[in-house]
Amino acid sequence: MVNDIWVVSDKKEEKFLRRKTADFDFKKFTKKEIAELISRMRRIMRAANGIGLSANQIGLDLNMFVAEVPDMDQGGTKFYALFNPKIEKKSGETGIFEEGCLSIPGTWGYVPRAERVALAGFDKNGKAVKIKAWGLLAHVFQHETDHLQGKLFIDRTKKVFTHEKE
Ligand SMILES: [Zn+2]
Repeated sequence: MVNDIWVVSDKKEEKFLRRKTADFDFKKFTKKEIAELISRMRRIMRAANGIGLSANQIGLDLNMFVAEVPDMDQGGTKFYALFNPKIEKKSGETGIFEEGCLSIPGTWGYVPRAERVALAGFDKNGKAVKIKAWGLLAHVFQHETDHLQGKLFIDRTKKVFTHEKE
């Protein structure tokens, strides 16, 4: 189902989601194709009320994700599109957030993650970037970089539940 979000309840889709994605090769895409990829992923993420979406969640074997989270400093939201991302450094306390995933609908769990991370990757122009994140954004970065390595949040928690806690 291209354009739609792949889910673990489908065995074939689960197998794909459990595979490490291929490195994004900027030479293989035009600027226009990259812009279209980003806007398509943003559209799908927003339509699903998500705050992050990895390319393999829509069936694309590409090491990239988009994220959109509230901007604590300036209000509104901040949008990210990151290519070949890597968590370079984790620090701070371990925080436990309730996580869900567009690929595992109806399931939530408490996932311990580093409160602060430094993410290294590339922007849409292939320019190297480094982003320091904390709180929700740090959790989203870890959730999405996990996806791109074929890892899901349910692998990191023992406690999953099928409805949101009050
Ligand atoms: Zn997810």
